[in-house]
Amino acid sequence: ARSVHQIQSGQVIVDLCSVVKELVENSLDAGATSIEVRFKNDGLDLIEVQDNGSGIAPQNYESIALKHYTSKLSSYDDLTSLTTFGFRGEALSSLCAVSDFHIVTAQADQAPKANKLEFERSGKLKNKQIVAGQRGTTSSAVNLFSTLPVRRRELEKNIKRELGKVVTLLNEYACISTGVRFNVKNTDAKRKTIMLLSTKANATMKENIANVYGAKTLLTLIPLELDLEFEPSATGKRVDRELNEIRVRGHVSRPVVGEGRGTRDRQMYYVNSRPCGIPQIAKAFNEVYKSYNLSQAPFVLADFQMDTNAYDVNVSPDKRTILLHDSAALIESLKNAL
Ligand code: ADP
Ligand code: MG
Repeated sequence: ARSVHQIQSGQVIVDLCSVVKELVENSLDAGATSIEVRFKNDGLDLIEVQDNGSGIAPQNYESIALKHYTSKLSSYDDLTSLTTFGFRGEALSSLCAVSDFHIVTAQADQAPKANKLEFERSGKLKNKQIVAGQRGTTSSAVNLFSTLPVRRRELEKNIKRELGKVVTLLNEYACISTGVRFNVKNTDAKRKTIMLLSTKANATMKENIANVYGAKTLLTLIPLELDLEFEPSATGKRVDRELNEIRVRGHVSRPVVGEGRGTRDRQMYYVNSRPCGIPQIAKAFNEVYKSYNLSQAPFVLADFQMDTNAYDVNVSPDKRTILLHDSAALIESLKNAL
């Protein structure tokens, strides 16, 4: 019989995308400047994320994969001023429940020695062994969902589409993370390796966009720089001044009539550099371009930089949906500025 833990874990780790998202965010939280994502057989056999971040402190080895363990929150108050991606302590615990999971990690003073950590389904540390390894962490999930046959079959059936979604997601992280080198590849059953994404560390956002979408894309773009300041709307709960000052930074399609068709899949929205879905904002961009009879769907890379009290990321387990406390006033102001 499956444990309650295995079933509940299905909420954080629901598909290939969520595995990659959680592991990459852990790497970013660890201050990595290089992140390599490797798939074997589209991720069905192996999903591996290697970073050159801080590594894991030996005193945390026993606890990292236990449910609700996190090293990132020291008090409840931290929840509102959160700057790390992670804080729930659910990802590693869930990964242990739904795959054969192990980690190789080293802090700076341990390298070139590292520790290989193997975990039980429950997240309990099963085995610890010294191996060779540089500073950083490599997390490996083998045979995802082998413990959940129905979900495994679903994954196998949709694997190509899933991998496509993963690449779209990684493109979002890669474009905004100017200090981080991303390298993503897949090795198929015939041992043929294909590069899915490759960016350089210390590249500009434009260089990242060129890398991901092709250098030609740059010719159609202009910088996006808006400083929004608005009166809180009647429905907005917050009235503090700083909550209604929002900087928008990024790149959008140059407004040329007849250009830029079919770029709806090239719209990337972020709040404080966190990739997220904000449907009302996407709608605002598309409507403004359409109203001028310009491109139907512009290229958009827009980072909304705002006070962490102006929104809530805790509304969904994947923290992708953002709840803006005063979206009506923001949208109004954004449309006018555009
Ligand atoms: P969360 O990210 O919400 O804290 P996770 O389950 O994703 O929870 O990770 C648990 C803990 O494991 C983290 O708080 C962190 O201490 C450690 N950890 C996980 N991945 C890494 C990594 N790549 N580098 C350094 N520490 C990591
Ligand atoms: Mg995490």
